[in-house]
Amino acid sequence: MNIRFTQQRFLLSWIILPAVLLGLLVPLPIVQAAGSYVGLFLPPRDSAPIQATDLGSSPASGHPATVSTPSHPFVQVENISPGLHGYASGRKAVDGQLESQALVTALQKGGYVVYFRHASTERTQTDTDTIRLNNCSTQRNLSDQGRVEAREAGNAFRVLQIPVGQVYASAYCRTRHTAHLAFGWAEIREDLTGVPADKLEDRQAALAKMLSTTPRPGKNTILVGHGENIAVTAGIVIGEGEAAIFSPLEDGRFSLVGRIRPVEWKKLVSTLSLPGGAVDSMVDYRVEKAPPFLANDPDLLMPDLQTLPPTDVVYQAIQPNQVELIRLTNTISNAGIGPLEIQGIHQDEKTTVIQRISKADGSVVEQVAGEFVFHPTHDHWHFENFARYEIWSLTPAGELEALVASSGKVSFCLRDNFPINLPNKAPRPVYTICTHGTQGISVGWTDVYEYDLPDQTIDITNVPVGVYALRSVTDPNNQLWELDDTNNAATIYIEILPGAVQIVRDPEVLEQLFGKGFPGVDT
Ligand SMILES: [Zn+2]
Repeated sequence: MNIRFTQQRFLLSWIILPAVLLGLLVPLPIVQAAGSYVGLFLPPRDSAPIQATDLGSSPASGHPATVSTPSHPFVQVENISPGLHGYASGRKAVDGQLESQALVTALQKGGYVVYFRHASTERTQTDTDTIRLNNCSTQRNLSDQGRVEAREAGNAFRVLQIPVGQVYASAYCRTRHTAHLAFGWAEIREDLTGVPADKLEDRQAALAKMLSTTPRPGKNTILVGHGENIAVTAGIVIGEGEAAIFSPLEDGRFSLVGRIRPVEWKKLVSTLSLPGGAVDSMVDYRVEKAPPFLANDPDLLMPDLQTLPPTDVVYQAIQPNQVELIRLTNTISNAGIGPLEIQGIHQDEKTTVIQRISKADGSVVEQVAGEFVFHPTHDHWHFENFARYEIWSLTPAGELEALVASSGKVSFCLRDNFPINLPNKAPRPVYTICTHGTQGISVGWTDVYEYDLPDQTIDITNVPVGVYALRSVTDPNNQLWELDDTNNAATIYIEILPGAVQIVRDPEVLEQLFGKGFPGVDT
């Protein structure tokens, strides 16, 4: 605890808190030149008081959320809230839109730290397990309205071209999902994960540091946390989905420059977006590409998906439609330094999939990677668009010429089927079930889809006989983060005959067909 924090707590405890409780607070610039906090206090425009169930607690502590400790009177947010509430309802309306427009103009230049409280939640749910925070079924989660709020906020950032640098979120599902829906990814920080009583000072210090840390050049830093963390650190009570925007100052200080309620984002988009700009509703689950600075972080334990050459290539004629198919066995391995792990989160009718990548220090980065679909024939859940099988015609030199047939999107249940020979391979299978919870492929393991499974097909009804390349591509739309995206395709050569197909393996045969310099069978 340094002197600044002591002063801050003194300020909060003995000046602001009594003022709030007495309902005497007016919009008042509070400037303490030597203190840790320079703030412009505004009463909340969201009347929802913080409740104990809003707050979350640390996965490490396992204690239920605590909102009051005798030695830190400012933590008594439940006591503060009625005073602010009463004040807010009695004050004159301000022109929030103009204020918010000015905030957007400022944010467009970068340099701010934006603290979002998670979006609206299901009030009938409570947190019953505060340790295993990956299990969303034991937590209070986003409501339908909350998901809309998160998407609209993220959409506003894109349409209004507000630059985003780092995105940090608490480990609770409601905060992670707010970040996923708005920004497409987040780095999970325990520091933001509620305020257990025994960690109050640590959490205050950690959030104060985040609020006072200058973002990456030209960007804004996003924090997605709980009402309690910002209340105990910056002395403000914000509603679900509300954003409080801070300007980092020197010497570990920060100032509050404004707040934006969730309902305002959509209005800002329609007011401020340029003609011909992006649409005002976001429908794409994939909202952001991986920021290069993050995807290139050497501390990320990334998977590396590699496609093995297809095997078991067989011909199948389906009567009476006279449809002709090629069937194949497809094998995808993970030769990276960390597992490929994906996890479903509920979002409207779909199950959005996030990819989780651990870092060497134990923290986790999550990014929205696609969706799970229920496969009725396999009777389990698949990750959509994990593979694509293609047949290409060839130039006289044996190079790919034109795509003549394709499987379209092929979905997979990701799991550890067979190990490969890698020194760092996982000793035993980890991912073995095909739910819409967690799936994955461990390091040194392969996921095999046999030729006789539904969807392991390419329709060749309209493909003339001849020699072709059969190409299998993993993650064809590059939805997953991995070490190397250039090794995701495997190509073999096949000869389609009347009523048959065969793999052409012999280099001499290939040389006869294509002449010298043929690239050869890719095995
Ligand atoms: Zn399956």
